[in-house]
Amino acid sequence: MKSDARVVVIGGGVVGASVLYHLTKAGWKDVVLVERDQLTSGSTWHAAGGFHTLNGDPNVAKLQGYTIALYDELEKISGQSCGLHRTGGLLLADTPERMEWLKMAHGRARYLGLETELLTPKEAKKLLPLIEERYFVGAMLDAADGNLDPSGTTHAYAKSARIGGAEIYLQTRVTALERRADGSWSVITDKGTLRAEHVVNCGGLWAREIGRMVGIELPVLAMEHMYLVTDEMPEVVEFNRTHGHELPHAIDFKAEIYMRQERSGMLLGTYEKACVPWQPRQTPWDFGNELLPPDLDRIAPSLELGYRHFPAMERAGIKRVVNGPFTFSPDGNPLVGPVQGLPGFWCACAVMAGFSQGGGVGLALSQWMINGDPGFDVWAMDVARYGEWATPGYTNAKVRENYARRFSIRFPNEELPAARPQQTTALYDLMLEQGAVMGDSWGLEAPLWFAPRGVEPRDVVSFHRSNDFAHVKAECQGVRNAVGVTEIANFAKYQVTGAGAEGYLSRLMTNRMPRQGRLVLTPMLNEGGRLIGDFTIAKAAADRFLVWGSSQAQIYHMRWFEQHLPRDGSVQVRRLGLGLVGLSIAGPRSRELLARLTDEDVSDGALRFLDHRSVDVANTPAIVNRVTYTGDLGYEIWVAPEYLRRLYLAIRDAGSDLRLVHFGMRALLSLRLEKNFPTWYRELRPIYGPFEAALERFVDLSKTDFIGREAALVEKETGGKLRRVSFVVDATDADVVGDEPIWHEGKVIGWVTSGGYGHYVERSLAQGYVPRPLAGDTASGAFQIEILGERRPATIAPEPLFDPQGRRMRT
Ligand SMILES: Cc1cc2nc3c(=O)[nH]c(=O)nc-3n(C[C@H](O)[C@H](O)[C@H](O)COP(=O)(O)OP(=O)(O)OC[C@H]3O[C@@H](n4cnc5c(N)ncnc54)[C@H](O)[C@@H]3O)c2cc1C
Repeated sequence: MKSDARVVVIGGGVVGASVLYHLTKAGWKDVVLVERDQLTSGSTWHAAGGFHTLNGDPNVAKLQGYTIALYDELEKISGQSCGLHRTGGLLLADTPERMEWLKMAHGRARYLGLETELLTPKEAKKLLPLIEERYFVGAMLDAADGNLDPSGTTHAYAKSARIGGAEIYLQTRVTALERRADGSWSVITDKGTLRAEHVVNCGGLWAREIGRMVGIELPVLAMEHMYLVTDEMPEVVEFNRTHGHELPHAIDFKAEIYMRQERSGMLLGTYEKACVPWQPRQTPWDFGNELLPPDLDRIAPSLELGYRHFPAMERAGIKRVVNGPFTFSPDGNPLVGPVQGLPGFWCACAVMAGFSQGGGVGLALSQWMINGDPGFDVWAMDVARYGEWATPGYTNAKVRENYARRFSIRFPNEELPAARPQQTTALYDLMLEQGAVMGDSWGLEAPLWFAPRGVEPRDVVSFHRSNDFAHVKAECQGVRNAVGVTEIANFAKYQVTGAGAEGYLSRLMTNRMPRQGRLVLTPMLNEGGRLIGDFTIAKAAADRFLVWGSSQAQIYHMRWFEQHLPRDGSVQVRRLGLGLVGLSIAGPRSRELLARLTDEDVSDGALRFLDHRSVDVANTPAIVNRVTYTGDLGYEIWVAPEYLRRLYLAIRDAGSDLRLVHFGMRALLSLRLEKNFPTWYRELRPIYGPFEAALERFVDLSKTDFIGREAALVEKETGGKLRRVSFVVDATDADVVGDEPIWHEGKVIGWVTSGGYGHYVERSLAQGYVPRPLAGDTASGAFQIEILGERRPATIAPEPLFDPQGRRMRT
């Protein structure tokens, strides 16, 4: 065994083998993989080997498409068969809602370049005669689906990596990881110690335990999973004989089963409601090539339905039942990337669909390690998307919920209940009393909308406008016509201090830093000039700045902030979390309301747009920023958590005769749409540049030095490929929710990033990116946006529908 390597990959499942292969492919040769037992001896060897491209996140779907296309390359390099069966697959809808969901998925598939087709039950039956047609209302065919040999595929990755220069040590268990003084890692194994610049946790079933070796608790949990394989079935034999090819895969959402041909019989797997975690506390190190005892009773409800929907299956004998564990994160997507606070320690774990995702994970991670950037938008699988609130108990509840809902529809307005409430502010009970319907915002309860007295505070889930519509409208109108209050504790906040703070922030951000007592809005770019953040920054003192950003990206941004800290100790960055909480008041009467709560002069001349002040509000020591995301006159008032209740009660009292309304996140998002304001993670993502995103006024190219400047300069000169635009959509009873295709002259030319109903301007609105030359096509109905399978005319709104001159914010 070597004593030194640039990278040590821990774990020889399909994911570790893929990471190793991709590192060698990108040119890093000094890389090794350490495997406790044999290759595949975690969850990989007993997988059913199915692959598919569909994923709730289009960027993950793209990486799945990459994985599936990779297998031919691997076979060629390694000479090792992956045992590919590219059969295509059917997704079977049992209800009109499920069909709407398939239509949405079909729409998304268009811009991802995937081949999907919507079918009637009769057409579906032609492809898969086992179907009992009357139980289904339609289907979608995905041409890319298929299955492979898990072991052959893992060995094909490993062989290709070895050809590329990698070494693999089998029967070698990593027992500890230690950080060395020079920043590298000691990888201590039962066969000796390796020094490595980078360590990658591909530990699969043991990823959690490897995380614990470096003091972190990764939100990952294994679940038992069962599939059965039937004896030979005459129906299958007959189909193969007459058609000359295999049956396609199928997913029956109602029965919660997936199915595919296995030799001359069928393989049927379930995601049962009564699911069971495996080893919730500690995975035994001696777990090896054994399976878990099958429990057919647990999957009986699914089997019963499956037998009804595919009657031939009931007649078939069961040859074998496999029950094996594999891992999930709370939202079911992988945990990939560098871990904040542990330079050189990387994760590629919680990969629940290794044969759909393993290739994409390996590619993204290798690029990340080598170039400092994954090269894709991997936010949906970034390990940084979870915070400290994702404890083992939280993970357990969420993973079970996710597993049991694997084949359930997630409606756009649906909030999932497991592990909630996890974090609450001091206003939680008061908000509930006020009729709040709560949503989860990065582990924190945040009001979505308020049900008036006599109305049940509950969402009716739907793809269409729902029961909250009239109430969110009233909230929006209340803000625009008088004044509203909303809780904003869920924003991310950071404090940057030290003699070097200003220079440091200026280098990270595209905008110039504010003068003391002022705010700026600023994007943040990576080296490639792509958007990786969007912040509001206040200069509180010569050497102290406060920074507000997106709640979900707190760890993601802290990771970046820490990576770029000067080594001389002249700057300190602290995430404030719920140590700073607040309320926003917005609307034309918000100044009057604020004036009642403070002795300070809050007139327009004294407290201007984008001013930042430390003042007493309702006798609490507060920070007031004159800015709001509603695009109206408004203020953010920030306090320590112990003052929040007092502040809120005072606002409520002082606003009672000003027609004060409570408004939630849904109204806030509707109000910002009317101003064409973008939002992080939807419009602002690392696949877009600042000029494409129409943020040019926040990029100060006269600054000579900031990260991404060169690329931004080029983008400015060329104009970029895309342009963010806002549309007015001719919608009826369903608005866009995001990811719908945008059509222009019969072709899909882009997709919707977000949208909804603009309740004050009374228009259905959408934002999205289109090729730049088309952004000037403002003709009425020049575009179409596909909502639930129907193309609705859409017209670019070149300026905000509400207050295009921005007078309301500024006066
Ligand atoms: C019954 C079943 C059916 C499935 N069907 C499918 C399917 O159809 N399609 C699909 O895509 N996925 C399927 N999966 C999921 C798939 O198996 C996983 O996505 C995949 O195996 C994850 O691979 P991995 O490399 O992350 O983890 P693992 O396969 O668990 O590999 C981790 C490796 O790390 C090694 N290791 C751990 N700790 C150490 C250490 N300290 N030192 C050295 N080595 C260590 C382990 O020995 C192991 O070999 C199925 C899973 C099950 C259980």
